Amino acid sequence: MAKKEENNLLNKLVSFTKRRGFVFQSSEIYGGFSSCYDFGPLGVELKNNIKKEWWKKMTRMHDNIVGIDASVLMSPKVWEASGHLTAGFADELVECKKCHHRFRKDLLEKNKCPDCGGELTNPKKFNLMLKTFVGPVEDDSAITYLRPETCQGIYVNFKNVLQSMRAKLPFGIAQIGKSFRNEITPKDFIFRTREFEQMEMQWFCDPKDADKFFEYWLEERMNWYIKLGIKKENLRAKETEKNELAHYAKRAVDIEYKFPFGWKEIEGVHNRGEWDLLNHSKHSGQDLSYTNDEGKKFTPYIIETSAGADRALFTLLCEGFKEIEGGRTETTDSTKEVETVLDINKKLAPVKIAVLPLVKNKEEITKTAKEIFDMLKVHFDCQYDESGSIGRRYRRQDEIGTPYCITVDFETLDNKDVTLRDRDTMKQERVKISELGGKIFNLLTS
Ligand code: ATP
Repeated sequence: MAKKEENNLLNKLVSFTKRRGFVFQSSEIYGGFSSCYDFGPLGVELKNNIKKEWWKKMTRMHDNIVGIDASVLMSPKVWEASGHLTAGFADELVECKKCHHRFRKDLLEKNKCPDCGGELTNPKKFNLMLKTFVGPVEDDSAITYLRPETCQGIYVNFKNVLQSMRAKLPFGIAQIGKSFRNEITPKDFIFRTREFEQMEMQWFCDPKDADKFFEYWLEERMNWYIKLGIKKENLRAKETEKNELAHYAKRAVDIEYKFPFGWKEIEGVHNRGEWDLLNHSKHSGQDLSYTNDEGKKFTPYIIETSAGADRALFTLLCEGFKEIEGGRTETTDSTKEVETVLDINKKLAPVKIAVLPLVKNKEEITKTAKEIFDMLKVHFDCQYDESGSIGRRYRRQDEIGTPYCITVDFETLDNKDVTLRDRDTMKQERVKISELGGKIFNLLTS
């Protein structure tokens, strides 16, 4: 994609997500806070729906995966054992000698400053951990870190889960939560931020089964994105070269998405071997081994699937954002304008149903519409909208990806039925009010 086109789509998404309440710059009234974003009323619904789908898929749909929610602040000893402090959770930073902008070396295409073409310094290590103090005294003994990944909270709870759930290998522990990294070059909107949310599952298994499970989880995770509506051709699995593997990894494959700014990682699938449990055993003095039914004692291997909720959301927005020149045929009042449709999986849509009275000055119609809205909002995310022409209201809903619009009109008063309109086909059908709930449930879960 040409540079101009890339920026065009990215700029459009930034302004669209702000205008329709998906994503706002953090602390905007103070000029913003670099690389931090807030999710607005529709963004939070969309993100919650993504997390809900992930959680359902990874826990409820697997008999042997359980969830936890570990704290963000942990003993600093965790980060010594994990290697984040010692081996260094660091990126190589280079600085331009001319404009003094800083960059992550591994993300640079050339050995020149991408901003001004200036010469770059030699790389130096830069630790990505965000430091903080706990307790009232800010001395060295009070230092801890905001977790840079959620998985360590899982490893240190391995024994607790094993015992409390009477778990047997192979089994998994899933977690969704915030992580923090002092990224050198946060950029590309919500792609790389300093505070973000991860959805991670750690699969504990017998070392002899690790390769088999790696393949299984890689396929499962690729399919998850495809099922949510990401086109196959916009996804790829990229094997990490042996000499580029992180210190803990035996194998790593990045699931990448074709963003407007190029192919980028949205999830990592890693074989972490016995590294984490062995090191936590060593540092804590606790035995984190496992004894199988045959009496064989060993340290389980870990296959990790590590996804970013923010990157998944970004991916879905890139994929679903469609602009249709001249508008779609139904909305005659929009001819010659550009019409936006957010073509997003119905299950994930922030609003599922919009209830629209055809006119707002006929009390029986608005009253009935409000009754329908009150009935449906118990089960579905609904919006009630009576302002503007019906065409404009459909367009407003199409723009945020609402799969179904219900129109209450004069016929409703006589026949006790409404018009149900489908976002994608724009087809309308009459449905009895008494059958609406069941009908919509079926449509959303089919
Ligand atoms: P990158 O190479 O892009 O920095 P990474 O390899 O360091 O990513 P992992 O440590 O494997 O990323 O983290 C797993 C997932 O967490 C990533 O695939 C991504 O979805 C998410 N993630 C990591 N860092 C960030 C960030 N700074 N902002 C948003 N999401 C992130």
